[in-house]
Amino acid sequence: MPIDATVFRSRRDRAAQRARSRDLAALLVTPGSDLAYLTGHRIHESERLTCLVLTADGSATLVVPELEAPRARAAAPGLELRLWSETEDPIAAAAALVPRGRAIAVGERMWASFLLRLQATLPDRTFCPAAPVVAPLRAIKDASELAALRAVAQSADRAYTRVRELVFEGRTEREVGADIAALLGEEGHDEVTFTIVGSGPNGASPHHNAGERRIARGDAIVLDFGGTMAWYCSDITRTVHVGPPSAETVRVHDAVRKAQEAGYKAAREGVAAQDVDAAARTVIDEAGYGTYFIHRLGHGIGLDGHEDPYLVRGNSEPLVPGMAFSIEPGIYLPGKFGVRIEDIAVLNDKGVAEPLNEVDRSLAVVS
Ligand code: ZN
Ligand code: ZN
Repeated sequence: MPIDATVFRSRRDRAAQRARSRDLAALLVTPGSDLAYLTGHRIHESERLTCLVLTADGSATLVVPELEAPRARAAAPGLELRLWSETEDPIAAAAALVPRGRAIAVGERMWASFLLRLQATLPDRTFCPAAPVVAPLRAIKDASELAALRAVAQSADRAYTRVRELVFEGRTEREVGADIAALLGEEGHDEVTFTIVGSGPNGASPHHNAGERRIARGDAIVLDFGGTMAWYCSDITRTVHVGPPSAETVRVHDAVRKAQEAGYKAAREGVAAQDVDAAARTVIDEAGYGTYFIHRLGHGIGLDGHEDPYLVRGNSEPLVPGMAFSIEPGIYLPGKFGVRIEDIAVLNDKGVAEPLNEVDRSLAVVS
């Protein structure tokens, strides 16, 4: 990841400041996106504890298994390491770095096996989630993060342009899904996280797993796919049709498209996340399909595919420039078909939602 160490230091300083204002003693963060965000170190969680101990006064130490030290040093140069050997108790090592007093915030992805041992080691302390400290920082992307999100979205757009040229009729969803994954790779993705191919009635299940169904002429197909490039996630949905679509399919697609446009218009600085959902939902309600829009309008995206802010009823959080989120209305008609259109959008400096996915949103006729 091409960011220098000062970026991570400044993120840790801001996290420590938020920890102080919440009267926390420290944040403990194990491998995952929070750790990557705060240190630049991205590794898989394992039974050997790796844990950042960030105290409220801003001192940061990464507790790390000795054998992982070379990778940690390379990923997070300058970060203080507390190496532990195979015969040592890493929980005790982490606990010893936590200042006296007050509550300890732990990352939400910390394994229960670690947290339970920490609680037993520090029985008189209280524990709380680190998300309220870190998630609001992660929700507002800096310039390098926005560049990464734009690059991965453009890669997904290029892949979709080629997906439209695939042959669909007579092939299984799984085969098409494998082609989509290969195209994402060819267009620059490091990793493909999911390929949803929901053909015909399967499209009515929003997260349908690409399966053995053979695609036929007359099918609408929901294609939703994404992955990562330089750690940042893509997520795009387009609906295509094998051969000319029916009047009903066109009508439903049109309603979804207008709902997405209403979402874009509503997504402005200071507007509550739930009001963007409501703006899109109203369009679908008025088209008569309100009961078939069965999920929230969108989710934030960054190092994780789903993160704050969530565009959902009940979330009154105001949108702020630098936020990146999906706008993905859908209509799902059980037993018939589904339609969804999804872009990733960013709230720009002018406080306006700007699409990162710009590839054609129309109901493409495929063969
Ligand atoms: Zn998606
Ligand atoms: Zn999404």
